[in-house]
Amino acid sequence: MNFETLAIHAGQTPDPTTGAVMTPIYQTSTYAQDSMGEAVYDYARTINPTRSALQDCIAALEGGAHGLAFSSGMAAADTVLRLLKPGDHLVASNDVYGGTFRIFTKVYADYGLRFSFVEMSDPDAVRKAIQPDTRMVWVESPTNPLLKVADIAAIAGLKGAARLAVDNTFATPYLQQPLALGADIVVHSTTKYLNGHSDVVGGAVIVNDDETFTRLKFLQNAVGAVPGPLDCFLVLRGLKTLPVRMERHCANALAVAHFLERHPAVARVIYPGLASHPQHHIAARQMRQFGGMISFIAAGGPEAARRIAQATRLFALAESLGGVESLIEVPAAMTHMSVADSPLAVDPALIRLSVGIENVDDLIADLTHALAQA
Ligand SMILES: *Cc1c(COP(=O)(O)O)cnc(C)c1O
Repeated sequence: MNFETLAIHAGQTPDPTTGAVMTPIYQTSTYAQDSMGEAVYDYARTINPTRSALQDCIAALEGGAHGLAFSSGMAAADTVLRLLKPGDHLVASNDVYGGTFRIFTKVYADYGLRFSFVEMSDPDAVRKAIQPDTRMVWVESPTNPLLKVADIAAIAGLKGAARLAVDNTFATPYLQQPLALGADIVVHSTTKYLNGHSDVVGGAVIVNDDETFTRLKFLQNAVGAVPGPLDCFLVLRGLKTLPVRMERHCANALAVAHFLERHPAVARVIYPGLASHPQHHIAARQMRQFGGMISFIAAGGPEAARRIAQATRLFALAESLGGVESLIEVPAAMTHMSVADSPLAVDPALIRLSVGIENVDDLIADLTHALAQA
């Protein structure tokens, strides 16, 4: 079946009791059992039908055999990191989501994991960073907020025995399917495009390998960072329109990127869909389209960036991304405070846009007004 059909139907059949077309919200913590110890449904941390539908749908969209849902993207990442043991080494992008950098360096470093941050868009740098006890390579592509693109298939080819985990939050499975490119584990913040309506915090992990799945499922239940049934329902609903939303996000972002490229108040536009992007050729090969995220540097420096980000009317000044509404932010002052004073610190004149699915002329008019304040 094709992606658009899977987004609406995978993991979901009309409710056996009532025929309800939409998967019900099974808002229960426990289930009455016919006989002792034999029930499929025993306790809702372990299993919940609304969550199962979501897990199966996300797995199908990623082309994976197994999916697991979590209460946040960070909870999903945390569970994946628990596959590792003290002394294990992890190679990660030098431009990762701030919260991912924080859990690596401020949580798991204390439990004996060791980290190297490398330029993931350079396969040679990745090859050099891999050590005999490297057990995981952690890739984001495109990255947040610099939108660097890593060649996932090339990294899969040189990772050796390490597992390759790809945070696919920015691309979504509609634009890129890491498992098909050789990744072992896909991680999502479903908070972003998968839910798509800025009303849920959630996460997901998708794998093909049965053994890895068994361990992760054990951890999901043993650690317990599971999402509630209402949140699962909302993400499941959001997924149904993922393909049409992504089409509009991508078309709007490309138009906005071209507009910014020509604007004198903009020093540099970073968008994987522009020929000027350093890894444009990899993005063109690896992704269906180029996504809804754009970063740009204000020509007038950090103060100009602050003025622009506070002058938009439609683009809301807000963290997060991937919702239907457009957002603007200054990463150095907002989402990426946790990497300040580290080698991952970002340019304070950098502005990040999450381009929504509004009418693109209205978005460009809003940016025209804001850039005039620079
Ligand atoms: C938001 C985000 C996360 C963390 O997800 P939460 O749902 O906020 O916990 C991880 N990776 C990327 C790329 C993100 O954008």
